[in-house]
Amino acid sequence: MAIIITDDCINCGACEPECPNNAIYESDVDWSMSEGTSLKDEQRHDAISEEFYFIVPSKCTECQGFHDEPQCAAVCPVDCCLPDPEREETEEVLLARKKALHE
Ligand code: SF4
Ligand code: SF4
Repeated sequence: MAIIITDDCINCGACEPECPNNAIYESDVDWSMSEGTSLKDEQRHDAISEEFYFIVPSKCTECQGFHDEPQCAAVCPVDCCLPDPEREETEEVLLARKKALHE
């Protein structure tokens, strides 16, 4: 499943540079699929949160193919990067996404 940042986030920014897919954005920053990936889709999308750092679910692979564990969760000082129960995904799905993002 994708990881989600809860409202316990203290906006420290530690997680953002750790993501291999550039799936993490600061609050109120618009995002695109092309950033941090090999995709050409540069369309900008509205921020998912105006208060806290957020993760774009379609760019999160739980770090599959890069690391043994989600790097955002590993560095977060308040443990607010958690599996999103609304987005349960198999390892197969996550690895396929990783491949699609970085081909
Ligand atoms: Fe990025 Fe990995 Fe965190 Fe997903 S789990 S947002 S891929 S650092
Ligand atoms: Fe928020 Fe944790 Fe990321 Fe810091 S590391 S910005 S507290 S989610």
